[in-house]
Amino acid sequence: MDDNTILEVDLDKIIYNTSQVVERCHRLGIAVLGVTKGFSAMHQIVSAMVEGGVDGLADARLENIIELRKRNFNQEITLLRLPRLSNIETIIRYADTSINSEMTVIQALSETAKRLGKRHNIILMVDVGDLREGLMIDQVLDAVMQISSLKGVRLLGLGTNMGCFGGILPSPENLGVLVTLVNVIEKKVGIKLEVISGGGTSSLSLVEKNNVPVGINQLRIGEGILLGTDTTHNRKIPWLLQDAFLLRAEVIEVKCKPSVPTGDIGRDAFGNIPQFIDKGVRNRAILALGKQDVDVEGIVPVRESIKIMGASSDHLILDITDSEEQIKVGDDVEFSLSYSGLLSVSDSSYVTKKFKRGIL
Ligand SMILES: *Cc1c(COP(=O)(O)O)cnc(C)c1O
Repeated sequence: MDDNTILEVDLDKIIYNTSQVVERCHRLGIAVLGVTKGFSAMHQIVSAMVEGGVDGLADARLENIIELRKRNFNQEITLLRLPRLSNIETIIRYADTSINSEMTVIQALSETAKRLGKRHNIILMVDVGDLREGLMIDQVLDAVMQISSLKGVRLLGLGTNMGCFGGILPSPENLGVLVTLVNVIEKKVGIKLEVISGGGTSSLSLVEKNNVPVGINQLRIGEGILLGTDTTHNRKIPWLLQDAFLLRAEVIEVKCKPSVPTGDIGRDAFGNIPQFIDKGVRNRAILALGKQDVDVEGIVPVRESIKIMGASSDHLILDITDSEEQIKVGDDVEFSLSYSGLLSVSDSSYVTKKFKRGIL
């Protein structure tokens, strides 16, 4: 086949990042769930996470979890998006555990699990400030008492999510709230909770500083393992690799053109009114890569001297005037990816995925 636009995945780097995260977390008694939603659960990458030592897998999409089971991943799998009432039976069949915040849903999970002769694990989500999913703190005890009377489910523990809707950073204080709640529950309801799940990649900074409250014993890590970054704290994680993924696209035009278009400016292909700064004549390259292939906001040219000027559905326009190396038609240009970039290319049928091993 012709060479398409390519996402190159270095599996050794994924294994390395996974084992680094796992090692640091295990030292503090924290289990690591490998979160697979950021790359549509491509099985080669999931296997790398498993090889790196994750304690379980987790994904927000039931479709991905079904695919993982078909591929014979028999690890514990947690569904990371609140269940849809319309999917209950499939969830029971394919996921061991789900995160939950609605009693109607938990009751339905319990009923269906009983009918199927199974027991489904519940992580009850608590909102400690980020305002995405989860019960408010004062509602938790009531919910726990109701859940503990249900026969088809087992309350595995409490969890929280941060750095998503509200951009709230994990701290010893807000994670400490979870631990306190669990202590109160164990005393007042008399049940033991096995898991306290303290967030995702944004919690790794607390792991580094040994600031995770005692009691937190699980993290759900995607971005850190995959990209070595922590978007919530706007940082590269210094002990992880940032280049496990590389996107390559081909140059289809190279020409010098003025930096301001000629004629009356209307709207661009997406309904926006474009604005231009006159930098004189610039050398530009057009790539066979566009918004249908990737979230253009989520990619960065590996060579810093190359700048992205704009994109339409099928074209990416680069300023290559300052590039040290000459770029010509037929060359490939390489990009690193942010989480949104990775999400979008993973899912694109226009981007061929290539996996490599044995470099590190
Ligand atoms: C996506 C997700 C994660 C993983 O987040 P990262 O920042 O990629 O580590 C953890 N928990 C939940 C509930 C999620 O939806």
